[in-house]
Amino acid sequence: MPSKAIDHRGRQVSLLARMGHEEATSERVGDLISACEDDAAVSDDPDAAVNVERLRRDYDRATRIPASLVGEEAELATQAQHHWAKARGSNDFGAFEPWLTKVIDLMRRKAECFGWDDGCEPWDALAEDYEPGCTAAWVESVFTPLRERLQGLLDRVMGSPTPPSNAFNEVCLPVDAQERFVRLIADRIGFDFDRGRLDTSTHPFCSGFHPTDVRITTRFHENNLNDAIGSTMHECGHGIYEQGLRSDMAGLPLGTSVSLGIHESQSRMWENQVGRSESFWRWCHGELRREFGDAVAHLSFEDVYGGANIVRADLIRVEADEATYNMHIMIRFELERAMLRGDLEAADVPGAWNERYREYLGVEVPDDARGCMQDIHWSMCAMGYFPTYTLGNLYSAQLYEAACRAVPDLEAGYAEGVFEPLRVWLNDNVHVHGRRYQAAQLCEVATGAPLSADPLMRHLEQKLSAIYGL
Ligand code: ZN
Repeated sequence: MPSKAIDHRGRQVSLLARMGHEEATSERVGDLISACEDDAAVSDDPDAAVNVERLRRDYDRATRIPASLVGEEAELATQAQHHWAKARGSNDFGAFEPWLTKVIDLMRRKAECFGWDDGCEPWDALAEDYEPGCTAAWVESVFTPLRERLQGLLDRVMGSPTPPSNAFNEVCLPVDAQERFVRLIADRIGFDFDRGRLDTSTHPFCSGFHPTDVRITTRFHENNLNDAIGSTMHECGHGIYEQGLRSDMAGLPLGTSVSLGIHESQSRMWENQVGRSESFWRWCHGELRREFGDAVAHLSFEDVYGGANIVRADLIRVEADEATYNMHIMIRFELERAMLRGDLEAADVPGAWNERYREYLGVEVPDDARGCMQDIHWSMCAMGYFPTYTLGNLYSAQLYEAACRAVPDLEAGYAEGVFEPLRVWLNDNVHVHGRRYQAAQLCEVATGAPLSADPLMRHLEQKLSAIYGL
């Protein structure tokens, strides 16, 4: 689209958003939900009762927002995203700042419409759209112990005299062979190609329309097979979740994913717990040699397994490794929480950002393009979203420990290229429930304990201690 058409596009998007909202919050929909609530056939059917209860919740929440605000948000998100992309391209925070100010103002007004309970805060009202039931105070109670323990581990890792070899990440491999290779992995870990597709895009993503139609994408760089493997396994995790939802409940809450955090737990599990594990690479190393031959013949098992687990404090969230990634998220969470409380203005975001990068990751931010303007989220009016990434890592580690307890030889199977038991465990313990439970509750049902930072830290400490010789 030509850049000058942005305002027109904003008005079109705004109209569509307003019309959609008016439909979803119409009196007719409210009457239909009430009729279901009064119907004995619904209350006698546990699944139907859950569906109606969730629909009621969604309806009541949506009706708190006037259509005019929905339209305003859609228009602002379209424009602000456009100006963010331009400002990032020219590394000019000053050009983005007025748009960020508008976003903060609108997000605070939206939070006020939803309202929040005593002891809660505006951030909670917005996070509800991404992670129902999640509050900033709860996130803080999980993130704080994580940050303290992670800081200690990162200090030891950075000081290691014997870091793994980076040779694997320096090999150039043709893209068509890489594509064959990641398709083999996707198929083996259980992404069903008869009910889904894998294509290529700049930013990998997953779109689930129905359990029989799940589209995922990945990306390739000649000199970075690890990125293609990680991206593919990540999106496969999202896709396997969508394919695992109940077909007979398609379009209803019981056939819908729980939250972004749980969705991300599924992608991170295949990407990290499986895809960066020792036993996975026992299998993958052999397959690598079969596919790429001489180009990888010089790489030992230690080279490929270590190369998939390099930890480095750096500037960019989407390029971060499994361990430092969580620090990037904590920084964003603290800043957006302060913005919504009215404690941090747009103009002060770069300074607050850079200060935290120095404190948490020990890196100097050279410019705002690689600093507070690197992510699209705030420009598209998504505040309360970032923590779902780290919650995903935490849920992933805790669910994975439960799966390992339930299936004792789970990891041994990976070395033989056998991944089905994990997929089946996830189908039975996560996917089948749809939105029956909220995320925190699902975690307790599936793992027997509330969410904690311990499983993720155990996972990272054990693996990195061995790889980095700590
Ligand atoms: Zn994801």
